[in-house]
Amino acid sequence: MRNVEGPGTATGVIVGGPIVVRKRFESGLLLVINAGGSALALWWLALNEPGPIELSYFAVSACVTLVGMGVGLHRHFSHRSFECGPVLRFALGAAGMMACQGSIVKWVANHRRHHTHVDAPGDPHSPTLDGHGQPLSFLRGMVHAHLGWLFDDTISDFEVYARDLLDDPLVMFFHRTRWVWFCASFFVLPGLFGYLLGGVEHAIGTILIGGILRTFLVLNAIASLASIGHTYGARRFELAHDHSRNNALLALLTFGEGWHNNHHRHPRAAHVGLAWYEVDVNGALIHALARMGLVWNVVPHLARRRRRDFEPALSS
Ligand SMILES: [Zn+2]
Ligand SMILES: [Zn+2]
Repeated sequence: MRNVEGPGTATGVIVGGPIVVRKRFESGLLLVINAGGSALALWWLALNEPGPIELSYFAVSACVTLVGMGVGLHRHFSHRSFECGPVLRFALGAAGMMACQGSIVKWVANHRRHHTHVDAPGDPHSPTLDGHGQPLSFLRGMVHAHLGWLFDDTISDFEVYARDLLDDPLVMFFHRTRWVWFCASFFVLPGLFGYLLGGVEHAIGTILIGGILRTFLVLNAIASLASIGHTYGARRFELAHDHSRNNALLALLTFGEGWHNNHHRHPRAAHVGLAWYEVDVNGALIHALARMGLVWNVVPHLARRRRRDFEPALSS
């Protein structure tokens, strides 16, 4: 295991070694389940009409995992946009784990590294540079930023980017048990739901549609923030070396995360929709929870505060 600092690499980037082999194996296994199961789901859809059992599970589990990613893994665990009690924190962590995008500590380390080196050498998933900071053509860059980076020979050093979470018992519990959550999300929960409400045939359909296809679609929506969200859309804020965009379609598909340029301007903000038409479902949910007293210390966007002494981005 090497932590290399020099041309093409950056602080907190581990190049090669057994940890990278494990990263590629886990990424590969998750992608095989996602893509293989989704192909089976499309085949199932060609032969069967999905009913209320499959569709209701798909809709509810998609909403739960999108909130788990946006409110949980992104705004709470990565950026500390708000604080909450242990029960809600567990629920947000569990919902985020159900997206099957790695453990919380791994996702947070990658994401904080993205903010630290955005679109510069060290960024894990820039559409313009590879994992060693070398320029990429448009097509190769889009593939790398979307999912290709999960298979390169670099990985984020948890000690550098997620030191606080390595001492967090809840986060490390989710890390140790991550495959339990992945299996529950892909197979067990949709299978039980379908079986109890409709029998074996519906259990298979619910696993394929509500378990695997839903996970794959959510994965692609979130991955699009790195590929499309750093390539297509409007820029309210011109940020140095930062190609982040505000993309309404991505915002719709990710419950608000697509206002990515607003987010990059102030990563700690709990609400990133700044104009009336920038609907931020995750931000609205955080404010609703705050009104109920379930979350507190909610960080407002600096553009809403009109003062200069805002908190710096939590990127390390
Ligand atoms: Zn970004
Ligand atoms: Zn972020």
